[in-house]
Amino acid sequence: MKELILCKYGEIVLKGLNRGGFENELMKNVRRRIKPLGKFNLSSAQSTLYIEPLDASIDMDEVFERVSKVYGITKLCRAIGAEKNLDSIFEVVCERFGETLSSAKSFKVMTKRSDKSFYLTSPELSAQLGGMILEKYHHLKVDLKEPEVTVICEIRGEGAFIHDIAVDGAGGIPVGTSGKGLLLLSGGIDSPVAGCMMAKRGVGISAIHFEAPPYTSERALMKVERLAEKMSEYCGRIDFYTVPFTKIQEEIRNNCPEDYFTLIMRRLMMEIAQRIAEKNGIQALITGESLGQVASQTMAAMVTTDAVCRMPVFRPCIGLDKKEIIDISYRLGTFEISIEPYEDCCTVFTPRHPRTKPTLSDVEEAQNRFDFEELINEAVENTRVKTIRTY
Ligand code: ATP
Ligand code: MG
Repeated sequence: MKELILCKYGEIVLKGLNRGGFENELMKNVRRRIKPLGKFNLSSAQSTLYIEPLDASIDMDEVFERVSKVYGITKLCRAIGAEKNLDSIFEVVCERFGETLSSAKSFKVMTKRSDKSFYLTSPELSAQLGGMILEKYHHLKVDLKEPEVTVICEIRGEGAFIHDIAVDGAGGIPVGTSGKGLLLLSGGIDSPVAGCMMAKRGVGISAIHFEAPPYTSERALMKVERLAEKMSEYCGRIDFYTVPFTKIQEEIRNNCPEDYFTLIMRRLMMEIAQRIAEKNGIQALITGESLGQVASQTMAAMVTTDAVCRMPVFRPCIGLDKKEIIDISYRLGTFEISIEPYEDCCTVFTPRHPRTKPTLSDVEEAQNRFDFEELINEAVENTRVKTIRTY
């Protein structure tokens, strides 16, 4: 019997005339993720993507796992195809559910019929199939409210498909349908979450990381790369930029008032990130900031960082509590990496009394104690880039 994966489209369904473009992007993303696992036939009909393996040795558990991380899919399930007649359907039900039905106490059959030319209506098919199951498994009871086993039978144009309750997919819309964003990626908990939240809304993600050797180590950088790798299970390919930031930080320390260190550093990070973005056709910046979480994330502080920004800055964690961010990071699988204890350039020269209510003119005045332009150019020139993808 032929096993396949059925994926239900999410919001794409609401996309009207643009829908074709969204579907194509989703297909491309799915194809890219599963290609290393073998050959597949992908097709789309009635708001559903069909993934059919062309080789019996393909690891379908792994395929399912990968597809469950593709944005744009709300539900997915593993199904077995059958011919559109009761005997063939029953045979597949026995094969697929035989073992579970033998040990269960109750079940129900749910039928969805999108092929209206099929000779039985949904209630008729459910009743007849249910009857056949009861005849074979005498101990079972039908329970429509809380069945132990739910047998779902879909009658579609292409055939009948038997499966159990579909699980939630990653949701959102396909990566690549909403432009490109450059994520300021630290080794912390918040920024990987922010990147994935934007990818979920269709943004193609590039990442930029500021390192400050020898204050930050090679291993700290490796940690951030591993975070990007983990993210790429959801975001797909990530161009990863590493900016040498040491000289700039040292000159901030040597020339600017201590209370403003972090704010000036953040403004310079934004400036460098924008120049990299502009050079690479990226339209927006993304950070993991959450309002009020630390001194540099008060509204007044953000006013001073935004003042240097010429492009939109997306901060999807802005209204989330730390606990909520951690929950997401745990689900994404980035949490375990984020909590590894490595230093970040942000924690290298932290002021003892950071300003929580800075005024823009004070920050500008503090920053103007040194002309950073040359060092900014140098940092941009010496930025390294590599491509990160998990599969
Ligand atoms: P995170 O958990 O993402 O590190 P955080 O709560 O520790 O966030 P900060 O350290 O103040 O907050 O950083 C705020 C944001 O600035 C981060 O979410 C990230 O987007 C960016 N950022 C901080 N450090 C770096 C870095 N070394 N390289 C690139 N971006 C950084
Ligand atoms: Mg941090």
